[in-house]
Amino acid sequence: MKTEYLFCPAEFPNPPVIVQHISLTVDITETEVTVTSETRFQAAEPLASLRLNAKNLEIKSLTQNGKRVEYTYADDSITLQLNRPVSPGTEFRIAAKTVCRPTDNILEGLYYDITPKGQPRTIISQCQQWGFQRIAPCIDDMRAKCTWTTTIIADSRYSNLISNGNVSRERTRFDTTRDTITYQNDEPMPPYLFFLGVGTWDTFEKDFCYPDGKTVRLELLALPGSDKHDAETAVDIMADAILWTHIFTGPERFEDTETRQKLYELCTRRFRGETGLSEEITALSADLVCGYQYPYEVYREIAMQNSDFGGMENTGNTTIIASRIMPDAEITDASYEYMLGVKQHEFYHNLNGSSVTGDTPFSIWLNEAVTVMVEDEYLAFHFGRDYIRLNNILQLYAPGTGTFSLDTGAVSMPIEPEGFNDPNDLITAVTYVKAPEFTRMIETMLGKPAFAWALDLYHKRFAGSNASPRDWLHAMEDVGRTDFSFMADRWLKQTGYPTVTAEAVYHPETDSAEITVTQKGFGTQNPWIFPFKGTLMNAAGEEVAVFSKKIDAERLTFSVPCSGPFDFAIWNENHAAYIRMERTEPDAALYLQTRLDTNPVTRFLAFSALFEREMQRLLSDESAVPSDAFADEVMRTLSDAELMRSCGSMPLLMFESVSDPQFAHAYGKLYAAKQKIFRGIASRYRTELTALYKQYDVTYNTEEFVPAVLSAQFKANAVKNLVLSILASLDTAEVHAVIKKQYAESAGATNRLAALSLYLSSSAPDRMEVLEAELLRSASHPLAFENFISAAANAARETVSYLKRIEASPKFHIEQAGEARSLYLRFAQNRKVSLETTEGRAFLKESIIRLAKVNAYITTGMLSVFSHMREYPDALKAELMTVLREIAAAVSAEESPAVYQTAKQILAAVE
Ligand SMILES: [Zn+2]
Repeated sequence: MKTEYLFCPAEFPNPPVIVQHISLTVDITETEVTVTSETRFQAAEPLASLRLNAKNLEIKSLTQNGKRVEYTYADDSITLQLNRPVSPGTEFRIAAKTVCRPTDNILEGLYYDITPKGQPRTIISQCQQWGFQRIAPCIDDMRAKCTWTTTIIADSRYSNLISNGNVSRERTRFDTTRDTITYQNDEPMPPYLFFLGVGTWDTFEKDFCYPDGKTVRLELLALPGSDKHDAETAVDIMADAILWTHIFTGPERFEDTETRQKLYELCTRRFRGETGLSEEITALSADLVCGYQYPYEVYREIAMQNSDFGGMENTGNTTIIASRIMPDAEITDASYEYMLGVKQHEFYHNLNGSSVTGDTPFSIWLNEAVTVMVEDEYLAFHFGRDYIRLNNILQLYAPGTGTFSLDTGAVSMPIEPEGFNDPNDLITAVTYVKAPEFTRMIETMLGKPAFAWALDLYHKRFAGSNASPRDWLHAMEDVGRTDFSFMADRWLKQTGYPTVTAEAVYHPETDSAEITVTQKGFGTQNPWIFPFKGTLMNAAGEEVAVFSKKIDAERLTFSVPCSGPFDFAIWNENHAAYIRMERTEPDAALYLQTRLDTNPVTRFLAFSALFEREMQRLLSDESAVPSDAFADEVMRTLSDAELMRSCGSMPLLMFESVSDPQFAHAYGKLYAAKQKIFRGIASRYRTELTALYKQYDVTYNTEEFVPAVLSAQFKANAVKNLVLSILASLDTAEVHAVIKKQYAESAGATNRLAALSLYLSSSAPDRMEVLEAELLRSASHPLAFENFISAAANAARETVSYLKRIEASPKFHIEQAGEARSLYLRFAQNRKVSLETTEGRAFLKESIIRLAKVNAYITTGMLSVFSHMREYPDALKAELMTVLREIAAAVSAEESPAVYQTAKQILAAVE
């Protein structure tokens, strides 16, 4: 049967050979790279021929055990006729001399990154998923793990010549203009984690010492001219992530927590230069079972500029996008948080990914899910558990880009899809957001300590080899003595999520509650299985009953003992299950919950339900006015200093979305309704809001990496900017002046950008002049420029004029992934303009057609804004279908296969 996908699981049988060792000599000039490779294979089955992956390689020679072999090269693979058939167990060597040519826009294999003036061109690699076959012929498979020897020969002027493993032959002169260096990697590594980089960087290094005395040299390769203090702070953060990973992961992480905290503090002080602590550190750590310890001599983070990804965990050589590798005057608070997360995330992949590797691209989700969970633990350690959990929730509910929205789109894929067109299709929010929610449900059902044990068991069982998601589940089942297979089948193979209603009825005669849970959203498939936790509360704020139940049917009724009657229910504690609750209780019960629920996550869910009802009311009746009760609720929450301190403005996050299909995709109307609500609050509480704005206008010293101070600053900024955006809805000259003052005088990027966004969406007569001013100001700083473009792309008015002005600037480069993403992808996601206005649709179409040739990854992302077309009003749907058909006709199936295929798939799904 022909499927609609280019790759399916059946196309990933076990490789017919075991790859034992790869030895590479990579001879680099600025225009071409000659790779001499020798691979040692052992046949796993009888073989007469062998197929190797090879993409865009020029083949100079190919030999088997030193003798020439016959081969054909077509469809990105070389088929070798072995000199004679070999039996299983036979070892043989294939040597190849091939040439590849780096480019500026194929960001896979070896490619050019931005080069400092006067230096030889910087060349770096990106191999996930199938980039290595653009460097040398290989079995480009996650199971082809082997040891590596890599020799680099390149221009002596490069500051660094880098690959994976430890240096086995120091850098020395090769000839008059070139140097050579050799790396040896004795830990088995799959090709997708290979890294090679030659370039000019400023290196910042410092030794990191584990509690047991083992030392790792940390190297940060920053862009030349980087600020020394910022780079050193970045090294402090690297060390912090590595230390935290050691002390706060592993099988016993929930034991001896005080000792761990103390050890963490002492090691941090020692790293920052304090002496005389080593004895105490040794004593504290003597009996402590810690987590992952890095096995190599050097751990490196390398700044890259042109990439489709924020970071890549090449073994021992993490690449991170330059704008997220170190603090900077232009970094936003969200990006600073991202920086912390990405450093820990990529480092943890050395264990989860590098040591224990998935078996096929279909298991990438697990690799990411577990790594994201650990990353979130790290961020929670610094920013607070509630704050990070709310941050997760935002990624589920965000309209358009959140997983609840993506999961019901025309091209949504299950966590383990039936197939894919390009491995990058697997790098989605389903992988990074929904999949971790699935593994979190397993954690909820096992309990955190057992989950930690099971994860450790999995990492020990498969150290140095490959494992499938089923292997991971078996480890969970072995520790929990439960069967997760039915639950996993549904969550991994079905798209969508359960929509759940729950009802609790009190029975005074037995002092118990009868709880009925109903789920829908599984269509013709099986009901979902999920943990369901909750609390019944009375109006005095007392817990009357606490329950936890596994839901595995469409409708389930169960009874829980109470201590008296209750007035409201807290459902889905901590949002532990990936479900969307339909709230049926009256407003009064929801208001009671926002007042009495001490958990910010479930409190937020009640608030969201109230906000949606308010939105729905205004949308259904254009003459309706915003309610005072809701405005009071917002003001009361904003005035809760304790909550704002722990969670910033997130408890008040108000999404422009409703579930009513009539308005769910009426983006312009949704925006207008929210502005109306904001105007209601601003008119009622103008004085109080102005006072709050001043109260949260605080500046701490965030020069050093002191997580508690950063956390306080970020949360204050968030509250201040929410207050400003409420006031901005008044759109008066007076408010314009306040916004403009914040734009002009803010030291930090977050506050300046928040003000810029509001100003560009306002009716202020000089908004175009402000755009010009920021274009000039940001032009010399890549990060500031990207942030500026995003702000313009998100604007609620004149968006297309703003963007055309930016496109016309000589500063803008479409080949720069960061700039293209900020302009085109952000614009596409600004649906009230990109889909609902004539000039928006025209600009969207032109942009997609042009960008398809340059960056397929971003273009495919832009196409996802079409994926809910089925649900749009007929007239708009017809307009959008025309646009999409014109795109499909204009995009070349050969040049941009993934874009073409995705456009066709969306059309097919809608037609
Ligand atoms: Zn990752």
